[in-house]
Amino acid sequence: MPAAPPTQLVVSTHFDDAVLSLSHLLQTAGPRATVVTVCAGAPPIGQPVSEWDADAGFADGREAARLRSLEDIRACAVTGARRVLLRHLDEPYRARPLAARAVRTAIERLLGPRDVLWMPAAIGDHPDHMDVRAALLPLAARLPPARLRVYADLPYAGRHRRRLPPAVAHALPGLRGRDTLLSAEAFERKLEAVRCHASQIAPLTATATPELLAAGGVLARERVWRRSPWQIPAEASSCRE
Ligand SMILES: [Zn+2]
Repeated sequence: MPAAPPTQLVVSTHFDDAVLSLSHLLQTAGPRATVVTVCAGAPPIGQPVSEWDADAGFADGREAARLRSLEDIRACAVTGARRVLLRHLDEPYRARPLAARAVRTAIERLLGPRDVLWMPAAIGDHPDHMDVRAALLPLAARLPPARLRVYADLPYAGRHRRRLPPAVAHALPGLRGRDTLLSAEAFERKLEAVRCHASQIAPLTATATPELLAAGGVLARERVWRRSPWQIPAEASSCRE
């Protein structure tokens, strides 16, 4: 019997990062992708609501976490990806950086011997994304090159010309990037999943990135780096390069 295809294990710092940044993969992989959300925990009862959650219309961080988990279920139903939640808190709700060893150990346990790890480059210096990157770089450096991908964090990467951060280039020498420009059809499918994360998309479009969902905008181009040669033809058959 032929071996089962490897799982594409996508580490998503927050609930929305995977669908914002890696739609071309999720559309192609379907159930062969697993999205692991790191900051999927709910803050303790009584902790004041964060500014981000308040801007999203929540009076309580626990309610925000509960609703976002439901949004994630809907988004994963659109893409077909399996979901795994790690119960770490968003940066405003914790007193110290993410527990790097705990994050890395959890991902190592989930990563099968042939699976491919997709980790964020942490472009834009969001503290949670940087903590996840720092936790995973030692694991990434040990993986065979063919089993590692680093992805540009959208929409933040759009404001930084999708440049690979020096911390990543230093830890993982030899990375080569490639952009996938989503076709109109693939972009529409991406938006279907992105819109499931309504509680986070609303404040993004209201303030920092009003053109977030525009056709041909920042979400239409996804960048990924790998240390082994890119294969021809493109891996993402639904997208054009
Ligand atoms: Zn994020």
